[in-house]
Parts: sequence; C-alpha cells; structure tokens
Amino acid sequence: MSVIRTIAAVILSISFVVFVALFGRLPIFRRTPIAFLYRLLWKHIPNGFVAVDDRLTGRRVSRSLARTGDYLMNEAHPLVLIFFVLLQVVGEVLFIPAAWARFTVSQLTLLPPLVLAPLAFLYLSATTSSNITPHNHRSSMLAYPYDYALFHPGYFCSTCRRAKPPRSKHCSLCKACVQRQDHHCIWINNCVGRNNYLWFNLLLVSIAALLAYGASLGYLLLDAHLQQKLVPPALTRGSVTSKRWSTRMTWTEFAHCWAWVISKEWRIGAVMMLAAMSCPLALGFLLYHVYLIWAGMTTNESAKWGDWKEDIADGVAFRAEMRQIREIYPPLPEDVEPRDEDVRWPAGVRAKWWMVRTKNGQPPMKKAMQDEASETDVGEVREEPDERWVKVKSIAEVENLYDLGFWGNLGDGLFNRG
Ligand SMILES: [Zn+2]
Ligand SMILES: [Zn+2]
Repeated sequence: MSVIRTIAAVILSISFVVFVALFGRLPIFRRTPIAFLYRLLWKHIPNGFVAVDDRLTGRRVSRSLARTGDYLMNEAHPLVLIFFVLLQVVGEVLFIPAAWARFTVSQLTLLPPLVLAPLAFLYLSATTSSNITPHNHRSSMLAYPYDYALFHPGYFCSTCRRAKPPRSKHCSLCKACVQRQDHHCIWINNCVGRNNYLWFNLLLVSIAALLAYGASLGYLLLDAHLQQKLVPPALTRGSVTSKRWSTRMTWTEFAHCWAWVISKEWRIGAVMMLAAMSCPLALGFLLYHVYLIWAGMTTNESAKWGDWKEDIADGVAFRAEMRQIREIYPPLPEDVEPRDEDVRWPAGVRAKWWMVRTKNGQPPMKKAMQDEASETDVGEVREEPDERWVKVKSIAEVENLYDLGFWGNLGDGLFNRG
C-alpha cells in the first residue's frame, strides 16, 4: 500500500505545483489560494533565496541561476522535447519487454502504430515551421482578412520590420512572426501555427490514445496476474461461473492487492500509473483545442477576446460601422492592407464593424466644425465625440469573423496551410 501511495502522492504533488506555476496567474484564480501559491512560488521563495544567497556568496549562485533560468525560459532549446521523447521511450522499454510474453495477437498488432504515431507526429510538429519569411509574407497577408477587432491593418512587427498579417503573432522564442499563431509549445520546441496545427492535433490524439492503451493494457495484465495468484484456475475448474479475485473484498484489501502486484511488477505498474495519470492531461488539451476549433479561434486569439471582454465591461470599447468611417480611414497601401477581393477567405465574410478601445471611456474624437461666431481663438482646433462610434455593451454584439462554423473551422484549421 505504501508504495502505491508514495508514487501517487509524488506524481500528484508534482502535477499540482506545475499547474500552479503555469496557470496560477490567470484572472479566474484571483483572490484564491492558487494565486497566493503562485506568488509564493514565483516571488516570495525566489526573493527569500536571493536574500540568503546575498549573505552567503554575494549573490553569485542566484546570478548564475538567473542566467540558466533566462536561457530555459527565453531561448528555444530542445530540453523539454528530449524529456518528452525520453519519457515515451523509457516507458515503452520498461513496459513492453516485461509484458511481451503475455500479449495477445490483437494487443500486439495495435502496438506498433500506437507507439510510432506519437513520435512521427512529434517530429512533424517540431520540424514544420509556420514562420513568416520575406518569401511567404505576401501569401500570409492574403490568407485571412483583417477583422478590425483583434487584428487591425497598419501594424508593423518591430523585430521583423514587416506588416503584421491578420492572425499572426511575433514569437520571441522562434524569433519570427508566425502565421495564425496559436501558442509557442515547449514540448515540441516550436510554435503551433498555421502549418503544423494538423500535426499538433494528431500528436494530441495519438498521445492520448497511447496513454489510454498503456493504462488499460497494464490494468488487464496486472488484473490477470492477481486472478492467477489469488484464484488459480484449478480452484474453479468445472464450475459454471468463474470466481473473480476481488469478490467480497473490502476496499482496503483490494487496495493492498493492487499495491502488492504493482510493487511485484513495478515496470508495468509504474508505467500504467504514469499513463493513467497523464492521459487526462493529454485529453484535456485535445478537448481544449476541439473547443477552440468550434469557437473559431487560436489560443492567442482567445486571450485577445478575453481582453475585449474586460474592456467592454469597463465601458472603454467602441465600434463603428465600416462603411460609415471608411471615408476618414481610407485603405492603406496594398502591401499593408490587401484589397478585399485578393484575400483568400469566403468573399461575404468581411469586417462590418471597426472596434477600438479608448483610454477614458469617451468615444474617439473628431474635429468639430468651427462655429463662425465663436471663432475667437484662431489656430486652436476644437474636438468633440464622434457619434459614429457607439459603446459596445456586450461581447455578444461582436462577431468573430474567423468563425465559419465547426466544420468550416476544422477544415481551415487543419488544412489551410501556407
Ligand atoms: Zn515579427
Ligand atoms: Zn514560437
């Protein structure tokens, strides 16, 4: 029992700390213990460490740690990817030989595709680039229209010095603007973007399948071991109903039997437990991406929509009808704002509204018509609120231009590659 409890406690605590470290700063956890733990982890503990180090070595240790941390966090390096591959391979090397003699033919047949698929999709996800280059910049500009909510024309990447295509984002790790950037994924040491979204999703599917398979195979094998040990076939030979080993056991006895068989067959047992605990994680990521496909957005865009929601609640979001304000904001040069008919996106799906956020909750201003009688102070231009801009009251008033419905989004997300 103590073996199973220790392994479970260690894995669960590591998962919890990783969860807090990654997601603790999300607004949903504000004023909760999770946010407190996040500050403890990223602020108070490091500060305490630096204070101690200051006394002992004059901050020498913390300086070199900071350099290492800076490298790990801000440079593209394959350490996590290597760890990911090792985790899979070591798990398989432990599990498969130990279970080899007991596999049925059908269990054996499923093994090669399930083992190889994650590695193949990992390779494709890691090596397929969605980076914007001088060569593909024009086609990136034409892939999607500007929606004038999340993406406005006229913005230039200060690093790449090119106009930012709709749905793109500069990645400081990949050191490039990335087409339809979703997020930078440290597991694949690459950005998830327009060209590898298919491979990334297949990686999630295949990893979830492999983990589910490993967990259930491990369960079947160890369960059979217990059956063999506790109810030898000789005992039930000739009886109509074969007895299960766990019949009439208390929960404690049941747990003890499992702890015994896991420590007895630790290779299968450890891999089974790791697979069972990480499978929900892979499934969770996969479901999140199915949700994003359903909603017609990338991870990057879901954060931008979150910002709009807050700005709408704060009353600083305004919108105007495109056709009313186009005259005061004429189209930019074609390499900055392509003509609508050149954009490869369903012709009818174009921005109808122009969204802006203002600092003070006042609509954007326009120059007031000078009143002849009151023209006393010459040279000073009076400004007044432009009534074409109307306050947005709810996110429901805003439409997502990139949402073509689930199947449209699925086809676009997976197969519209540059
Ligand atoms: Zn850039
Ligand atoms: Zn990246």
